[in-house]
Amino acid sequence: MTGADVAVVGSGPNGLAAAVTLARAGLTVHVHEQAATIGGGLRGEALFDSGVWHDVCAAVHPMAAASSFFREFDLAARGVALLQPPIAYAHPLDGGDAAFAYRDLARTAERLGPDGETWRRLMEPLVRRSSAVTDLLLSGQRSLPRDMVAPLQLGSRVLGNLLRTNGLRTEAARALLTGVAAHGVGRLPSLPTAAIAMLLGHLAHASGWPLPQGGSRRIAEVMADDLRMHGGVLHTGHQVTDLAELDARVIMLDTTPHGLLALAGDRLPARYHRALSRFRYGPGAAKADFLIEGPIPWSNPEMGQAGTVHLGGRRAETVAAENAAVRGEASEEPFVLLVDPVVTDPGRASGERRPVWAYAHVPNGDTRDPVPLITRRIERYAPGFADTVLASRGVTAADYESYNPNYPGGDIGAGALTLRQSLLRPTPAWNPYRTPLQGVYLCSASTPPGPSVHGMCGHLAALAALRREFGITAVPHLGPHGGARTAEKIRRES
Ligand SMILES: Cc1cc2nc3c(=O)[nH]c(=O)nc-3n(C[C@H](O)[C@H](O)[C@H](O)COP(=O)(O)OP(=O)(O)OC[C@H]3O[C@@H](n4cnc5c(N)ncnc54)[C@H](O)[C@@H]3O)c2cc1C
Repeated sequence: MTGADVAVVGSGPNGLAAAVTLARAGLTVHVHEQAATIGGGLRGEALFDSGVWHDVCAAVHPMAAASSFFREFDLAARGVALLQPPIAYAHPLDGGDAAFAYRDLARTAERLGPDGETWRRLMEPLVRRSSAVTDLLLSGQRSLPRDMVAPLQLGSRVLGNLLRTNGLRTEAARALLTGVAAHGVGRLPSLPTAAIAMLLGHLAHASGWPLPQGGSRRIAEVMADDLRMHGGVLHTGHQVTDLAELDARVIMLDTTPHGLLALAGDRLPARYHRALSRFRYGPGAAKADFLIEGPIPWSNPEMGQAGTVHLGGRRAETVAAENAAVRGEASEEPFVLLVDPVVTDPGRASGERRPVWAYAHVPNGDTRDPVPLITRRIERYAPGFADTVLASRGVTAADYESYNPNYPGGDIGAGALTLRQSLLRPTPAWNPYRTPLQGVYLCSASTPPGPSVHGMCGHLAALAALRREFGITAVPHLGPHGGARTAEKIRRES
């Protein structure tokens, strides 16, 4: 029993963004988290060495650097430095070749040789309108964009990606862009993964692909600090199993649609129940955490300046591996994302010991140990890597669900990225956050705009609840210096 205006179930970035937004509107907010620590996908752990922290889930934050929620919340002003590696992401190929996306677009173009000018023409207009492009793709998808040029620029590039890899001709540039599209963990090529390629691809040259100094948990910490400062309360270590446990006027669920089905029991109308039951999950992630001694022995030494590395080989190999995972087929050479935080944050090392984060895209529910699978992938481009490993831990796709119920079968996107589910998430409805139950809202990555740490699902769901349940139409101030205001005062200002 909370007796609060609002109860939030789940403390992932979206649960916390909802809680912060609602508390900033002057409401009393209680957050309920099943795990012992808050943060959901932002949690960290010193897995092997007390001096070396590993990001258990999210590690790199292009979306947190760019989303309108975090732009206003202002992580930097709260002491979370977003550190930019010199190379945002890199893509090694056999024989020591590699392609690089530098922060600097001109340098990227220069290094891409014959495809340099095509890459520049592809990215430069998006970089110039980066806020509009980001706000369009990280929106609730039910309103007209303020900037009408951004959709045109974006639309032509998304189609160009779908039909002809944006005119790129060299293997290096095609592989580089395909690795970005693979972040969608969906069919390649497809409209949703093409949109992701354009969003994440241009962000590398705009607000960057930064890593928070000290790890992702720092983002959760400052969100929790803000919440507490505005009267919010966080409860950990208890899984909410029934909505009836919560005594609050409004309930925000940072859960999947299946989480809502379990919490609501037989209270949901049959039609909505059926619609939620049809929600589908995508391929899984299987992760390996390594503690290594010294830097990764990349065949191409420049790889050592990249924060994020895509191990997917040539474009055709990435496409084949991703589509196999979508079909539920286990590949021996899956697409792997690797992050080496010490490249930009030396404080993450303890002497020569450093954390390496890597996950493979595998079929949903896959039970294979990811450590040998991922080690083999890294060895292909960094022979001798295995000799640097002091300790490792694998989390199978199947195991991710017990760590966090929002990742069914290891689907870290909380829902398959099909065309239908990227547009009509979680169900076809004008207000995707509202449920037929009075005062109950979904606010997780299963709602628009979908996965990643941007806080927009929670923030937009909170704004919908503020309008409908509390008559507050003004968007609460989220910046670090906002004083506490009462709901009554904000309502009067609305
Ligand atoms: C291995 C991995 C790597 C990733 N890498 C990145 C990355 O580098 N960058 C990026 O932007 N994103 C990344 N992501 C994705 C990102 O973490 C998620 O998209 C994001 O965390 C979703 O936020 P959320 O708030 O919707 O859900 P979550 O972060 O999953 O949080 C949901 C929370 O709700 C809690 N919960 C659920 N049900 C209940 C209940 N009934 N009672 C109480 N508590 C409950 C869960 O325990 C959890 O803490 C990664 C994810 C994983 C797993």
